[in-house]
Amino acid sequence: MIKIHNLGFPRIGPKRELKFALEKYWNGKSDETELVKESQALLLDNLHRQANLDYQPIGDFSLYDHVLDHNIMFGNVASRFVKQDDSELQQYFRIARGRAPQDSDCKCTAAGEMTKWYDTNYHYIVSEFSQDTQFSLFDKPLIRQIHQARSQGFNVKPVILGPISYLLLGKAKDQVKPLSLLEDLLPCYQQLLKNISRCGVEWVQIDEPALVTELSPEWQNAYNFAYQCLSQTRVKLLLATYFGELAENGSLAAKLPVDGLHIDAVRGRGDVEKVLSELPKDKVLSLGVIDGRNIWKTDLNSVLDWIEPIARELEERLWLAPSCSLLHVPVDLNSELSLDPDLKNWLAFATQKLAELALLGKAVNFGRQAVANELNENAQAIASRQQSQQVHNSHVKQAIANISLNDYQRQTSFEERHKLQQSQLNLPLYPTTTIGSFPQTQTIRQIRRQYKQGDIQHDGYIQSIRAEIADCIKRQEELGLDVLVHGEAERNDMVEYFGELLDGIAFSQFGWVQSYGSRCVKPPIIFGDVSRSQSMTVEWTNYAQSLTQKPLKGMLTGPVTILNWSFVRDDQERAETCQQIALAIRDEVLELEASGTKLIQIDEAALREGLPLRKSQWSEYLTWAIDSFRLSANGVADQTQIHTHMCYSDFNDIIESIARLDADVISIETSRSDMELLDAFNDFNYPNDIGPGVYDIHSPNIPTEQSIIYLLQRAAEKLPEERIWINPDCGLKTRRWEEVIPALKNMVNAAKTLRQKSVAA
Ligand code: GLN
Ligand code: ZN
Repeated sequence: MIKIHNLGFPRIGPKRELKFALEKYWNGKSDETELVKESQALLLDNLHRQANLDYQPIGDFSLYDHVLDHNIMFGNVASRFVKQDDSELQQYFRIARGRAPQDSDCKCTAAGEMTKWYDTNYHYIVSEFSQDTQFSLFDKPLIRQIHQARSQGFNVKPVILGPISYLLLGKAKDQVKPLSLLEDLLPCYQQLLKNISRCGVEWVQIDEPALVTELSPEWQNAYNFAYQCLSQTRVKLLLATYFGELAENGSLAAKLPVDGLHIDAVRGRGDVEKVLSELPKDKVLSLGVIDGRNIWKTDLNSVLDWIEPIARELEERLWLAPSCSLLHVPVDLNSELSLDPDLKNWLAFATQKLAELALLGKAVNFGRQAVANELNENAQAIASRQQSQQVHNSHVKQAIANISLNDYQRQTSFEERHKLQQSQLNLPLYPTTTIGSFPQTQTIRQIRRQYKQGDIQHDGYIQSIRAEIADCIKRQEELGLDVLVHGEAERNDMVEYFGELLDGIAFSQFGWVQSYGSRCVKPPIIFGDVSRSQSMTVEWTNYAQSLTQKPLKGMLTGPVTILNWSFVRDDQERAETCQQIALAIRDEVLELEASGTKLIQIDEAALREGLPLRKSQWSEYLTWAIDSFRLSANGVADQTQIHTHMCYSDFNDIIESIARLDADVISIETSRSDMELLDAFNDFNYPNDIGPGVYDIHSPNIPTEQSIIYLLQRAAEKLPEERIWINPDCGLKTRRWEEVIPALKNMVNAAKTLRQKSVAA
């Protein structure tokens, strides 16, 4: 008999109950007792949804973030967070958010830094390590959860983050090498495992996702050392790896002294054979056969085809599971009431994925005939998706086949283009512009909401948005900006707006996944060939241009960003899906150009986010991602100026690809790094125009003219003056007009001052 288990369940609840419970508590509208009560109810609901598994994960639930939970558990709390009289919860949120609920503004400290959890869109709080770091075990909350769940009859398998991944995910605040802390850390893990074992638990899942990344020999050795130490405890260890292939770490993982190994058999299917041959004959092999990173139904029959022989060989040593924690998918498809029925029949959210797992378990243990009806239904759903005309659009496939190499190329070099563009745009030295969005006021949100709910008609909606555009243009003219934008009042989100207008992309009602803490996102679902059957921005852009003599910059979201922020098809390569989106965006670009738009910005905020976990795979990704951008942008005439924008500040290792975008102008986030990141552009001799962000839009602070001039002078040390644009470091939609107006005034004045200085010099 094989076993089935799960690696982790979404915490937020089917209708984002955790978010609302947290926010109520943070806003002082509930107290600790209530928050604890609500979160326990969610945890219990999660366990019930997993009741048909042989083992339920416990310890995967978290009030904010599981890495933060581990820091608390190991007593690793930086001194700035330690305040007398804080309760455990107060301290917890002080680290997570920089403030405890009862704090006044002046008591805030810098919150723990946050960063992306591997290649997911989940963000964890980065552990801080220093020479003073000392570990001590505080495992009461976890032990309490284990007891409670067991007393309710659940056969729980505690989930903890393994010591090597824990150290690798942290950040040294001084010269300390995280690896040097391992010896101090291991006794905590040993004691923890002992305490867990005393609860009567049989298995512990110890997560080591770092094993799917490239490891130096030092860290590989650390794995051997650490797991030798941990193997002394009585409880059985299931070492869990996920998010990719083990590849060269396969032998290491198979030979570590643990009792079982879980591998991601979706992304790491290639590992299976090798691991099977190397895994000692007394160990459990857990295969993650259900995609925990996507929302598609599993083709159960085809999974059975390849796991049945393995099951015959391994028998009870084979376990099945989702590929990784289900944290990265929404909770329950049953909440969806307005999805297209065909599409809905192709999907599986966390709850449905566990039902699939149970089916697989039964089919293996009792034969396929025991679940013949269910397997048949599954096969029909899979076939209907494969054949659906909603998915396959012959026009799109033809358009892709018709792409020629020329479509990726501008007609001439940047230098030539630049002359032509400048002769019609007549921009001053240090041209000023913004990144696209302007404050999303209550009024704007209300207009969109009323339109969505049918409270205002189409014409009324158009009039109201036009009024907002007109107001935005007027304010930009008064400010004296050189290149204007329409302000994006019609967009609630830069991907959702385009997703809703493009064919082949759908939106769920409750398909939320946790991004960080109480923040959730609802990724679009790219289910079919993507195409554009209507213009998306042309009317707004033309209207805005009709109101001003200044050049107006059209504003689009790029194909790579739309792809990276969506659930994507698993029946074709990401590269191909991206190419389709690129063609759709290209259509929009060409229509904008034909209707008179002379500058078009194509945002690629999320280009970097798509980088694979292993550096050895970067160049493949970058090749097709950059090609997609080029395909979307490069159909224009020389005179048309293409802009792009990126939301991050780390360009050193991808600068060649950034140059290959060949955008005429790129605006980037630099203000917080003191223009240091321009070094990458300087060292590379980056040829095109750059708009280094001159102030941080994430902060309500208003930059002074002086601070902007200072940053621009630093920029001018690294780049030729005539290549520099002046802009904030991202869109202004989260700011208020009272902040935006003075900030941009100072920015425009800084530009004027610098122009005078330049003439004088
Ligand atoms: N044009 C978008 C805006 O200004 C870009 C947003 C982003 O880069 N995240 O809002
Ligand atoms: Zn940005």
